[in-house]
Amino acid sequence: MLQTPAIVDLAQITTYASHYHFAMLHYQTIPVTPFQQNCSLIWDDQTLQAAVIDPGGDLDVLLDAVERLHLKLEQIWITHGHLDHAAGTAELAERLHLPIIGPHPGDQFWIDGLPQAAATYGFAPAQAFKPSRWLSDGDTVTLGSHTLQVRHCPGHTPGHVVFYSPEIQRAFVGDVLFAGSIGRTDFPQGNHADLIASITQRLWPMGDDTVFIPGHGPESTFGRERKSNPYVGGT
Ligand SMILES: [Zn+2]
Ligand SMILES: [Zn+2]
Repeated sequence: MLQTPAIVDLAQITTYASHYHFAMLHYQTIPVTPFQQNCSLIWDDQTLQAAVIDPGGDLDVLLDAVERLHLKLEQIWITHGHLDHAAGTAELAERLHLPIIGPHPGDQFWIDGLPQAAATYGFAPAQAFKPSRWLSDGDTVTLGSHTLQVRHCPGHTPGHVVFYSPEIQRAFVGDVLFAGSIGRTDFPQGNHADLIASITQRLWPMGDDTVFIPGHGPESTFGRERKSNPYVGGT
């Protein structure tokens, strides 16, 4: 038997439809620090709610970009505790009252070492910090109505995480993988076998067409690296 069509609220449908079709994630990558670390701003183009991934330094440059793009910066996401990725975190969090999300607790010793590392490498003074929220494999982070997946990818550092958006087929992978190279594993608690396992078991399943934003240098796709990267080609 046919059912009587329900009365629908057109205004509500229009609201859902415009939200569903047009709210998009965008990002812009800004190299910071003498290490030219790829800090990324990521935002919802409707609400302009934004997060910054790895504010290693050059906060004035980052905040200029936030202002120019009219973003509402709400969160700091950290891939790992190295100087070039995390040295600006405490100051930025304090200045704008932002929560610090990530990395995985395995990197606390790197975060505790930030003041000394900053002095050693001639960075502006940096403070250690306690993240508002540590991350584990399988966690998610949210930005407005958007959800990104968190994968724990140890090897370069023990507490390294990556942020993956299936929605825009982008992965922010820090120093796990680069176009044509992989992260160093000669630091304390670095581990080459762990790094290869992270790449092949946690990045490759995101799909060959996924574009990744590495911590340094140009973007690439996982498919291209699986073919031609000298360290993980053919895996
Ligand atoms: Zn690193
Ligand atoms: Zn780096």
